[in-house]
Formats: sequence, structure tokens, C-alpha cells
Amino acid sequence: MSPPSPVEEIPEVQPSASPLTRIGEARWVLLTALGVAIAAVVAYDLPVWPAVGGVLLMAAVAAFVPRRSASRRVKLNTQREMRRMWPGTGMKVTVDALPTPCFVADGRGITRYVNSQAMATYDGVKPGDPLSFSLRAPSLLEAFDRVCTTGEAERITWIEKVPTETWYEAHIAPIYMPGSGSQERGRDLPDFILVVIQDLTENKRLERMRTDFVANASHELRTPLASLTGFIETLQGPAKNDLEAQDRFLSIMLDQAGRMRRLIDDILSLSRIELKAHVRPATIVDMGEIIRHTADALSPLASDLGVEIRINLPDAPVRLKGDRDELIQVAENLIENALKYGSSGKVVDVGLMEQVSDQDAPCWVLSVRDYGEGIPREHLPRLTERFYRVDVETSRTMKGTGLGLAIVKHILTRHRARLEVESEPGEGALFRVKLPAMEESEGVVDKLSA
Ligand code: ADP
Repeated sequence: MSPPSPVEEIPEVQPSASPLTRIGEARWVLLTALGVAIAAVVAYDLPVWPAVGGVLLMAAVAAFVPRRSASRRVKLNTQREMRRMWPGTGMKVTVDALPTPCFVADGRGITRYVNSQAMATYDGVKPGDPLSFSLRAPSLLEAFDRVCTTGEAERITWIEKVPTETWYEAHIAPIYMPGSGSQERGRDLPDFILVVIQDLTENKRLERMRTDFVANASHELRTPLASLTGFIETLQGPAKNDLEAQDRFLSIMLDQAGRMRRLIDDILSLSRIELKAHVRPATIVDMGEIIRHTADALSPLASDLGVEIRINLPDAPVRLKGDRDELIQVAENLIENALKYGSSGKVVDVGLMEQVSDQDAPCWVLSVRDYGEGIPREHLPRLTERFYRVDVETSRTMKGTGLGLAIVKHILTRHRARLEVESEPGEGALFRVKLPAMEESEGVVDKLSA
């Protein structure tokens, strides 16, 4: 809803064109002239024809020479002033079409128009109030004053700390109305100032995430690299002829190289998934088969750790829309984590069940439950952050990169699925993946990729 304009739109007044109208407007002057002419004829015995000719000449001048009456001049000046004070329809519809909060103020800093985004964002904003009632950032108001005096557009950014850290950018531009006279005065006094505000918080957050990620990734890679370099130098120097030490060092170097390889694989995997984050998979897969396949692939690790994987799946195939490789990665990361971090519980339960409820759309729930040490509650909300680990040392010993659950989250977002985690320290952890069930109509096109 656009705010009501305090002054209705004022149409441009055209100078009157008809000679009769002009004679009408000059009627009092003409009548007076006629009276004087009659008096002169009667009182001073003037000849009639020059007197009549004089009056007719005045009438002709009144009819054909264009001019502005004093009242029309006043009216036009008032209208011009009004147009300088209140934005016209053209400006309003343009401002309304902008997707971000927008203010139109005059050179004295009085708000003259705001679009609906500004009304929704800034409580109580209304035309006629000073701009500083709604926009309080000192740097913005200073920039506004500069634009008023210099007539040069400016772009500024600022941060607001309360209630949460928010980044803003404002573009402040002078507006000169055609015919308002401001240009003739040397473009030094804009008729209006347009203030367009944009919330940059989301962009900044993504930017910060990206730089944090690069910093973390390089830090994670630098540690094994430093260790590799150190061992190579030792092998070239002090341990040159020590065969026993060489054997030990080479096996550590192999471990470190493996860690680097896993990190690079996970980073590449994450960026590949991010690239197609907005494309929902179109192929149809059998989720039961995916779980069976993953559990088989992880059985050597399970027996190494002395853990039994118990599977509970429906007999019939569970068809879902999804990317097979990515869903294998989800099941693999969750089951592998349960084996690695929950090995003390000796059992990992993996299940797949249909969930039908009145509130939510029907879905299939993949559950991975272990009975190990569990995860303290305060860590649960951050588990899917990149490189977040409850205990860095345990993760490193278990060949973890800290990216497994971040990859799971990204894959699930692409599949419009959700991850839920429940855990009590000492009682193990339960990871639940809710995958949307296929609608009847989707099942008709059989594209089973498994
Ligand atoms: P990592 O490569 O370190 O395993 P993940 O992203 O897969 O990274 O997991 C992040 C962290 O979450 C792990 O380092 C671990 O501390 C914790 N975690 C994940 N799954 C479990 C689990 N089943 N039990 C206990 N802790 C877990």
C-alpha cells in the first residue's frame, strides 16, 4: 500500500487558447475603456469613430496577444512550488517498483514519499516527518547533507549493532525536476533526494562464511603438510641411515598424505554439491537398496571396531526422487560416524520407516542410532557447520575431516529433506533424515536408476 499523498496531483495548467476566453478575462479593462470612450465622446464632443476604433483595438490586443493574468501567474507559481515540494505520480510509481526501502525527501530533509518496503521496514514512517525520525545512522544523515549541498550522488555503508549485527548500504541521489528552475540555478539545489537502502547482511554472512571456509581449509591442510615436510627433512638428514626410523616415519607420512587426500576429496565434494544446490534431483532411486549397499560397504570398518550393524528395512523397494551417489554419501557419513564415535555401544541400528502425519507431508525416515557416548546438548545446533567437531583429537584419530555432516546437510537441502539429531551424553546419538515421499503421479514415470 502506498501512503496517501498529502497534496493531490496537480495537472500542468495550459495557457488559454480561445480569443473569446481572453476577451472574457479582460472584460473589466475593456468595459472601463468603453466607459471612458463614451464619456469622452459625450463630454468633449470627440468624433465617435476614433473612440470606437480605440476600444476595438484594445479588444483585438486582448483577444490575440497571449499573456498571463496575475491570478494565473500566481496559480502557476503555486503549482510549480507544489511540484517542487511533493513528488509527482511518475516518481511515486517508480519508487514503488523498487524492491528495497526507498525514501524521497526534500532538500531540508523532510520525507516527501516512501515506498511500501520502507513502510514495512521502518515503523511509523510517514511523509511530512523529518527523514531523521526513521533513518538515524549518523553517517547516512551526514551523507544526505553532503548530497543536498554538493548535488553529487553518494553510496555509503554502515553497520547497526542492535538488536543484531546488520550491514546496510544506502544510495543517495539528487533529483532535479524538469522546469523547476533548479538546473538554471547551477544544479546546486536538488528538488528531491532519493535514498535507497539495501540490507547487505545475507551477502556479508555468505562472504564471511566463504573466507572462514578458505581459512579453515588451508589451516587443516597446512598441519599435515608441515608434518610431511618435517619428516622429509628428517629422512634427508638425521635419519638418513636409520632404517627403523625410516619405516616409522614413512608410515606416519602415508597417514598424513591420506588425511590431506580425504580433506581435498571432502572439499571438492562440498563445492560440487553446492554448485547444484538449487536443482532438485529428478531420478528415482530405491532407498532400501542404498542403505543395504552402504551397510555392506562399511561392514569391514564395523568388524574392525567390533560393532554390529542391525538393519531394519521395509520388504518392498522404497522409491524416492534423489541422486543415488549423494544419498549413498548421506547414509555412509551417518553410519560411519555412528560406528566411529559410538563404537563403545557395540551396536548401530539403521532403519527406514514411512511417516504419515496430519501436519507434515508424508516422508520416509532414515534413522541411524548408536549407543555410544553421545553428544553434549550444546554442540547439537553446530554439528553441521563446516569443520565443527565436538572433539578435534577424536575426530582426527578416526580419520574425520569435520566436513561429513556439512556435506550431509547440503545434500539434504538439495533433496528438500531434513536432518534431526537427538542425543543425551552417555546414551548415544540418533540421527534422523526425513526424505519427502513421492507423490502418486511421480511414480508413474519409472526412472529407477538403481
Ligand atoms: P568428522 O569428519 O569429524 O566425523 P562430521 O561432520 O561427520 O565430521 O561430524 C562432526 C562431529 O560431530 C564429529 O567430529 C563428532 O565430534 C560429532 N559426531 C558426529 N556423529 C556423532 C555420533 N554418532 N556420536 C558422537 N559424536 C558424533
